[in-house]
Amino acid sequence: MDRQKQAGFREQTDRLEQMRLRREAVREQKDMREVLAGYGVAIRGRTCRCPFHNDKNASAKVFRDGLHCFAEGRSYDVFDAVMHFEGCSFAGALEKLSGGSLTWEEWMQSRRVLTKRRQEQERRRLAAQRWKQQAAKVRALREEERALEPFSERWCRAANALPYAVYLLEALQEDELREEKV
Ligand SMILES: [Zn+2]
Repeated sequence: MDRQKQAGFREQTDRLEQMRLRREAVREQKDMREVLAGYGVAIRGRTCRCPFHNDKNASAKVFRDGLHCFAEGRSYDVFDAVMHFEGCSFAGALEKLSGGSLTWEEWMQSRRVLTKRRQEQERRRLAAQRWKQQAAKVRALREEERALEPFSERWCRAANALPYAVYLLEALQEDELREEKV
């Protein structure tokens, strides 16, 4: 790498770092419960009606660092909340939450971050869906095992299939726990 390229590369990683720090600072300082309350979301204890979909029940749990909607099987953070209520971009939410204008470079970078976040959210949604399907399968097999006549042909099939179905369910769960936030 020649010197000019090296300098350019360093500048770019510095900008990335700057953006990352700003995002991290917002994550550390902003409380999802306060941000949502600021938009008029009524939170009872830890639950509320999910503001991100037309929620008839209180399907969402709110934590300091985000909201999880059990009806949709997905999570939202303070950036999602501001984008949703203000109808703004990720860059706009970052500006609002960090209380300062973004540099042009940060603004450009934020678009890439948003794309990555969308991909991550979609991935999580699919993972939650897979988990739900597998959990239903395990429940159905357990139900069969209970209801069928022991050692009948169908009972044996259910009893044999159960450990593997449970194993798959646990593997899906572990995958989800290992995932890092973008
Ligand atoms: Zn929802």
